[in-house]
Formats: sequence, structure tokens, C-alpha cells
Amino acid sequence: MTTALVTGANKGIGLEIVKQLVDRGLTVYLGARDPERGAKAAADAGARFVQLDVTDPASIARAAADLDRLDVLVNNAGITGGRMNAPGDADPASIREVFDTNVFGAIAVTEALLPLLRASEHGRIVNVSSTVGSLSGMVAGTTPTSLGYVPSKTALNAVTLLYAKSEPGLKVNAACPGYCATDLNAHAGHRTPAQGAAVAVTLATIDDDGPTGGFFDDEGPIAW
Ligand code: NAP
Repeated sequence: MTTALVTGANKGIGLEIVKQLVDRGLTVYLGARDPERGAKAAADAGARFVQLDVTDPASIARAAADLDRLDVLVNNAGITGGRMNAPGDADPASIREVFDTNVFGAIAVTEALLPLLRASEHGRIVNVSSTVGSLSGMVAGTTPTSLGYVPSKTALNAVTLLYAKSEPGLKVNAACPGYCATDLNAHAGHRTPAQGAAVAVTLATIDDDGPTGGFFDDEGPIAW
């Protein structure tokens, strides 16, 4: 593997994924929607900046056209929607916004880059998901009752499985970084973004005999 693209990578876990892939010797494209913050983060991380808003088809098309090869795609961009969207107090417009980024954004970016990934001898896709998307966790009642963020990660897990089944030449896995201190949760997480990045980096650079269609955190497989 020599070339990677990470979406939503100007800060937080995505930026740490970029840095760790750069440390492993990859050429890394740091995707960010804001050109100023993205270019600065890329320069600091030793990466190449590519403007990429995962909800904007024109931006996705331009980014894809900028690349002539790609081995690793990390769909990391994600939002919570800024409100809980608990059952009984849910705003469909806010939920739609969350799905636009966390689910449809990941699909749109993946579709645009599939031709390059298929052309790679070691194509990898990592979708940055969350244990909160685990249906098993919902059955057990251990999951926050948010109708936006939580089902968006369940859907992203399903998307991961379906790409894994339909792209046997690639390794397609979902990663949960754990609860990390980032802007996403007002820095309430107990792990560092660097710790959270590690599982995605492992899956992004996994050997040809490694798993596909799995859902992992640092400890190993997570129940769907
Ligand atoms: P973060 O610090 O808020 O970073 C989110 C990144 O996504 C930012 O760079 C943001 O860009 C970008 N983004 C949002 N919408 C975008 C769009 N439309 N196009 C391109 N980029 C966009 O959050 P984080 O904690 O690092 O989250 C990274 C991933 O980890 C997310 O998928 C999240 O769901 C997942 N995750 C996080 C935790 C945790 O505890 N932090 C736990 C489980 C899973 P801007 O700066 O422009 O807004």
C-alpha cells in the first residue's frame, strides 16, 4: 500500500489517522471541506490536501479526478447533528443531515473512488463507525437513544458488509475508535484521538490474508 485518502481529516481522529499513515510511509491525501484548515493540517502532518466535502457531489468528483492511484480509503468524516434526537423529541431534518454525512457521504465517496481502489493490488476501505451502531448493544439496552447518530452508524456497518461482499478483491472493514476526546463530544471522551486512530490504521494497512466484512475496535471483533 502506498497511497491513502482520509475524509474529514483536518482535526480529531481523522487527522491522527493521517499522521499515523504518513509515519508508516504512505502518501496520504488529507480530505477536508475547509480549504484553509485542510491545507494547514496537511502541511503540519506531511500530507497532501484535497478539498472534499462528502455531501457535495462536485467536490467529490473533483477530488477523485485529482488522484491517479489509491490503495486505501478511510471514510472518517462524521457528525452528530448537534442534538440528541431522542425518540419523542426527534427532528427528521437533523437526522437527514446526519445521514447525509455519515452514510450517504461515505457511499458517494466510495463509489467515486472504487475504480482506483479496484485497480490497486491491495485495496482497503475502512469506515469509521462506532459501537453505538451495534444492534446487539441496542438489544442489550446499552446504547444512547439517538435516532440520528446511532442508526447512522448501524447503516454504515451495513454498507461496510455489502461492499465487502460485492468487492472480494478489496478488504472492507468498519472500525470503532472508542470514546475519544474530540470536538464531536466536546472533548468528553477518555481516549486520545491518536489512540482512537490506531484501529483504523491497522485495518487500512492490513495484510492480504487479513479480514474483510468485519467490525473491530482495539480489542478485536465487535458484535454487529
Ligand atoms: P471531529 O473532531 O468533530 O471531526 C469530524 C471531522 O469530520 C471534521 O474534520 C469535520 O470537518 C469532518 N466533516 C464533517 N462533515 C463533513 C463533510 N460534509 N465533509 C467532509 N468532512 C466533514 O470528530 P471525531 O471524533 O474525530 O470523529 C471522526 C469519526 O470518528 C466520525 O465518523 C465519528 O462518528 C467517529 N467516532 C468518534 C468517536 C469519538 O469518541 N470521538 C467515537 C466513535 C466514532 P470540519 O472541521 O469542517 O467540521
